[in-house]
Amino acid sequence: MAVRFVIIGGGPGGNTAATVAAMLGAEVTIVERDVIGGAAHLWDCIPSKAMIATGGELSELTRARSMGLAAEGHLDVDALRERVKSIESRLHGATKLMLESQGVRLINGTGRLKSRHEIIVDTADGIEEIGADYILLATGSRARVPDWAPVDAERVLTTREAYPPAEIPDHLCVIGSGVTGVEFTHMFSALGSKVTLVVSRQQVLPYKDPEVAAVLEAEFLRRGVQLLKGARAHTIRRDDDTVRVDCIDGRHVDASHVVLAIGSVPNSEGLGLENAGVEVDPDGYVTINHNCLSSVEHIYVAGDLSGKLPLSSVASMQGRKVAEHIMGVHARAHRHVDYEKAASAIFTEPEIAEVGLAEAEAFASGRKIRVTKVPFSTNAKALIEGDPRGFVKILSDPATGVVLGGSIVGRSAAELISVIALAVTNNLKVSDITDSLLVHPALAESLADAAS
Ligand SMILES: Cc1cc2nc3c(=O)[nH]c(=O)nc-3n(C[C@H](O)[C@H](O)[C@H](O)COP(=O)(O)OP(=O)(O)OC[C@H]3O[C@@H](n4cnc5c(N)ncnc54)[C@H](O)[C@@H]3O)c2cc1C
Repeated sequence: MAVRFVIIGGGPGGNTAATVAAMLGAEVTIVERDVIGGAAHLWDCIPSKAMIATGGELSELTRARSMGLAAEGHLDVDALRERVKSIESRLHGATKLMLESQGVRLINGTGRLKSRHEIIVDTADGIEEIGADYILLATGSRARVPDWAPVDAERVLTTREAYPPAEIPDHLCVIGSGVTGVEFTHMFSALGSKVTLVVSRQQVLPYKDPEVAAVLEAEFLRRGVQLLKGARAHTIRRDDDTVRVDCIDGRHVDASHVVLAIGSVPNSEGLGLENAGVEVDPDGYVTINHNCLSSVEHIYVAGDLSGKLPLSSVASMQGRKVAEHIMGVHARAHRHVDYEKAASAIFTEPEIAEVGLAEAEAFASGRKIRVTKVPFSTNAKALIEGDPRGFVKILSDPATGVVLGGSIVGRSAAELISVIALAVTNNLKVSDITDSLLVHPALAESLADAAS
């Protein structure tokens, strides 16, 4: 008899696990209360990047003038909204179709554990109970809302209410300068809003390479973004069409809208974890081992609920590994998700991407490393395209030449980092990059230069 595998949550963690397990012969059911594709498709990765792409086109039009073209661009908010919705629904439809074609059963409802091997689902037609040999919890996370923030989904927003936008804010105050905060700052300033960014420390992206953060800060200032550094918001008051954000040190921002980008909390409550003895950490994330197994031997976790790196790509990889573990696939030499080697990107302008060991981390630990940095201003393609901002940095082991990490700031950084990610994951050497015959002219040539 086929293995019965039930998944709660149809985001990237859940749907990747379903696809792989179905391919390997399991009888798979996904319980999803909203849409297949999850928050990633509906609110997070996809709509934000779709809007950033539109903002990017507007910037391109401005840049086109410097290339000798007389171009004008005007934002059509209704068309933008339609575009965001249509991308979401195409992706959602494609994912659903693929799962259905693989024989995965999709149940629209809210699931919770009844016992170690039973799930209860509340559906529009009533309650359904399902038995499972293996269970995956992939219910994701949601925006963190502190008690001083009266979110009203009109002018005081979390990232989830900010798109598709009913209107482009005149003046947006973004609270939080981590990855999500800087992406929102970039997105709305590119779309024409005045933006004030409340930065709790002295650097945007406080946990990133200071050199990388400096390039982004310079770009924000060039665009007229106001940076309120060392400021911690502690109250938000709405007064009709204005919102006032007060900071602990007495500074304040008067804006038309405010968006909170101050982290997330796991969707672990109401999941019936106590009915199966699944353990959570003090913040509510389900604790997992290197195989994504919870404290219960056949209940796995993937994605944001696991409290590991909150990335769609990581959720998918965890989902894949869970399915392989359940179905007993041992063919791969490297079986566990290596969070240290996850590539990530920030879709600002310029783009920022990184993977593996960071320079500051290496110096802090006293580890000897070789760091090579090449600016895009020496790259023919960057000059041809009229955008020579940024650089490529590669970190390697001086004794062996093995690539340990890298960061890229500049055009197409999110695509280019894949080469360094491949090297880091497979312990390739800098010579493996320099010996590759690359296209000319191409931005990727800067990778070979930085590896030399
Ligand atoms: C603004 C923003 C932008 C982002 N951009 C990127 C990006 O560019 N790249 C990237 O890699 N990551 C990005 N992320 C992170 C990424 O969205 C998450 O890491 C990813 O969605 C996690 O996937 P998941 O499978 O854990 O959960 P989710 O995508 O959150 O899916 C969980 C699903 O479970 C369902 N669910 C929850 N509880 C139940 C229940 N009891 N019963 C049934 N269904 C349930 C939910 O409806 C949801 O559909 C971004 C995040 C934010 C906030």
